[in-house]
Amino acid sequence: MKLIPTNGNGKFAGLNPELNRRNFLRAAGLGGLGAGLYALSGPSLLKEVEAQGKGEPQAPKLEQHKSICGNCAVGCGFIGEVQNGVWVSQEPWFEHPINQGSLCSKGAAVRDHVVSEKRLRYPMKLEGGKWKRLSWDTALTEISAKLLALRKQHGPDILQINFSAHYSNENGFAIRKFAGMWGTNNADFQARI
Ligand code: SF4
Repeated sequence: MKLIPTNGNGKFAGLNPELNRRNFLRAAGLGGLGAGLYALSGPSLLKEVEAQGKGEPQAPKLEQHKSICGNCAVGCGFIGEVQNGVWVSQEPWFEHPINQGSLCSKGAAVRDHVVSEKRLRYPMKLEGGKWKRLSWDTALTEISAKLLALRKQHGPDILQINFSAHYSNENGFAIRKFAGMWGTNNADFQARI
């Protein structure tokens, strides 16, 4: 069984700072004492300990999922580790033909796309030096009105659309359609820029 220390929210809580060499040796000594007591008292003591163990909560299973970093066009592989539905850590994917387990600093921090407290989760607008949250309807209405005003003033080439090197064919198709409908050829993806 693999024991994973958690902080009560199912997240990794780090190693116990109290478990230094001295404490470990003391605990190991008590373990030896327990084995000696069992030898003296017979199987009844062992049954009691087993019964206690069955009622204890088990650490949630750690699942491993192979995935691809989406931060650039190289497409490095890594193994994401998920516990209780939460992406808790990552491990190298040594057999991956592109990166053979290595990751650049962006790939090493790829989990932050999901768990970072700085992640943008809804539209925000800077007003009077302060950020305020907008609904998606309000944000889309304001952005489209601004785009149409710029287009009227400067023409369709005022817009440059850049999209991710890891967009799917369908994403790329939809963006090219939007650029064509808008009237510009200024659409390209990150891998070529
Ligand atoms: S780990 Fe670095 S080089 Fe590899 S895909 Fe991600 S960003 Fe690109």
